[in-house]
Amino acid sequence: MSGLLFVLSGPSGAGKSTVRKAVMKQCKGLKYSISYTTRLRREGEREAIDYYFVDDDTFKHMKENHMFIEWAKVHGNFYGTPRLKMEEWLQSGFDVILEIDVQGAFQVKRNYPQGIFVFIAPPSLETLGERLRNRKTDREDVIYLRMMNALGEMKSIRDYDYLIINNILEETVHKFHSVIIAERCRIRYG
Ligand code: 5GP
Repeated sequence: MSGLLFVLSGPSGAGKSTVRKAVMKQCKGLKYSISYTTRLRREGEREAIDYYFVDDDTFKHMKENHMFIEWAKVHGNFYGTPRLKMEEWLQSGFDVILEIDVQGAFQVKRNYPQGIFVFIAPPSLETLGERLRNRKTDREDVIYLRMMNALGEMKSIRDYDYLIINNILEETVHKFHSVIIAERCRIRYG
């Protein structure tokens, strides 16, 4: 039996990680794929929990050796999803969540068209700006870049299967959990 692949995208600051962590507490049989990144570690982030933090050379080596299912340059840093774990989990029947940007999601869609693509959007660009500032992790120029990228990312919503607007966190968690339950009940042929 093979598991389901949930691909969660949306602008940074939309609340993807918070939603994903809350759903994983409520829902059994889900695995989260930890990405590799060349981004510097933020305060409070932990190695092998939030990301595997690597240097450019390591990332390049992994990329050239096809160790990523997808990879992308996002806000000036590289991010990639490691291939091995994800494929092992899916083959063992676990459902897997990827939390990746839209460029990465398109690459995944090419190779795993049966994936379930979920977009989490902020209620407005103003809210997104407030959330990014409240995190107090990024400089104003970085926040500006992230907001500009958010506009571009939102244009890709139509390529996703589900859109969840993250206004009230509990409702967003409930909606994503409901998507998972519904997809687990879906009759699949072939
Ligand atoms: P952050 O630096 O805020 O943690 O992440 C920036 C963006 O990169 C977010 O949209 C996040 O979802 C995305 N991201 C995280 N890991 C990956 C990955 O493995 N691949 C891709 N394509 N994007 C990722």
